[in-house]
Amino acid sequence: MTEVTLVGAGGRNITVPTGLFIDNEFSSSTDNKTIDVENPATGDFLATVAAAQVADVNRAVLSAEAAFKSTWRFITPEKCRTLLNKLADLVERDAEELASLQAVDAGVLYRQSLAMDIPQAVETCRYYAGWVDKLEGQSMKISQGMAYTQCEPIGVCAAIVPWNAPLMITMWKLAPAIAAGNTLIIKTPELAPLYGQKLAQLIAESGFPPGVINILCGLGNVAGQALADHALVRKISFTGSTAVGRRILESSSRTNLKRVTLELGGKSPSIVFSDAALENALLHTTQGITVHNGQICAAGSRIYVQDKIYDRFVAEFSARTKDAVAGDPLAGQKARVTAYIGTALHEGTKLLHGGERGADSAPSGGHFVPNTAFVDVAPTATVMREEIFGPVASIARFNTEEEAIALANDNCYGLAASVFTDDVNRAIRVSNSIEAGQVTVNMWGTVNTSTPFGGVKESGFGRDLGKDALEDWTQVKTVKFNLQGR
Ligand code: NAD
Repeated sequence: MTEVTLVGAGGRNITVPTGLFIDNEFSSSTDNKTIDVENPATGDFLATVAAAQVADVNRAVLSAEAAFKSTWRFITPEKCRTLLNKLADLVERDAEELASLQAVDAGVLYRQSLAMDIPQAVETCRYYAGWVDKLEGQSMKISQGMAYTQCEPIGVCAAIVPWNAPLMITMWKLAPAIAAGNTLIIKTPELAPLYGQKLAQLIAESGFPPGVINILCGLGNVAGQALADHALVRKISFTGSTAVGRRILESSSRTNLKRVTLELGGKSPSIVFSDAALENALLHTTQGITVHNGQICAAGSRIYVQDKIYDRFVAEFSARTKDAVAGDPLAGQKARVTAYIGTALHEGTKLLHGGERGADSAPSGGHFVPNTAFVDVAPTATVMREEIFGPVASIARFNTEEEAIALANDNCYGLAASVFTDDVNRAIRVSNSIEAGQVTVNMWGTVNTSTPFGGVKESGFGRDLGKDALEDWTQVKTVKFNLQGR
């Protein structure tokens, strides 16, 4: 087994295997194909990991199919719960190593991982461990006698994960999929696969039977596409861009009509009414576009502010965000974000701060762009319409509540939205009128394990988290009895 040793937080050495994790063992890929992983903060080479090819995906699917048929579909709720709780314990035990790995290849701040992403992943694992014996059906009277329904596992499933919060998003899929009785193949992101190599070790250590969870790193258009095309994969849960989501849906329709859950991009609005507690609104709107450098699907990248407080809000917003010290990695996103800033300037959009220059404090070789904000942004401007996935805020004014709702809904995405107001009736009216999978009032973008998360419109369909996600990983069977005699 080949391994790589990396230097984590505090100078500690972390050794992870570099192979594909199939049947609880690490192996190299067909033809020894590999992917080089870089540190986005420095541009330095980090590691080489195996890149799954079509034949390797097939091997992983056959292993998951065998595990489903031979053991996992007969697993008792008690055993399943014990295994998920054990995995949660091990992730918690090795949180510092996982946080270091996400920092060096995904650019997730070490302290953010320790405070947020990893506790969330652990909590998710424990939450779904608690659900394993609570999946209920119904019984009903029918004209012939009686019927009952039961939630059954779907079978071999796959999860495809993006690079921005890889461990947390993986656990949003792994825990409910496994709790519902499925076997799972996880395709980790090629830009940030190292957490997955460590997670694979923890899965084996937890005692999951071979093949129940297989983890493959690989290129999207090779390994991801092979999963999307595979006839034995019965469901794909995908988190990533809308463009790739469309491709996965096409693959499903071309092949075996596998079920598809799509957690896609966003361009989430924040609406700040003049009666809102301004300090709170500023705290949350600035966090909404600067946390993880705006590389969050629910980033509050469109900010609509009521006329009366517009100028004051803009001045305060700028004062709080313009001087951020570059030091937080932006991975390969840099070219994309910089191109959007260039487009905005070209279209004549008014720059408040940031822009193409200004990241002089950044370490050389790294991929950084400064916090950037545009003001008085027209509804038609590219930066107001398209997902940038970086620290770029577009701010515009509104006058009436109706106007704010119309502006917020004037976008193809519908992932999340925030409303800031002290008027509870208005908060409810606006929340109910906004086209988004999640609306937060007087706060931005919280993740709670029990509340479903996902989008409407071109942000996708299906949900992660909560009971809704668990149901997405099951299928209902109806059994009917003729009780009318022979
Ligand atoms: P991406 O779509 O480029 O890649 C996501 C994953 O899909 C990667 O693992 C990639 O290898 C794989 N992939 C690429 N091509 C594929 C193909 N043809 N078939 C199958 N798989 C393929 O996205 P990204 O750049 O990694 O992540 C950023 C995007 O993810 C943003 O749009 C962001 O909004 C979105 N996102 C959404 C959520 C959510 O919950 N809605 C959460 C995080 C990120």
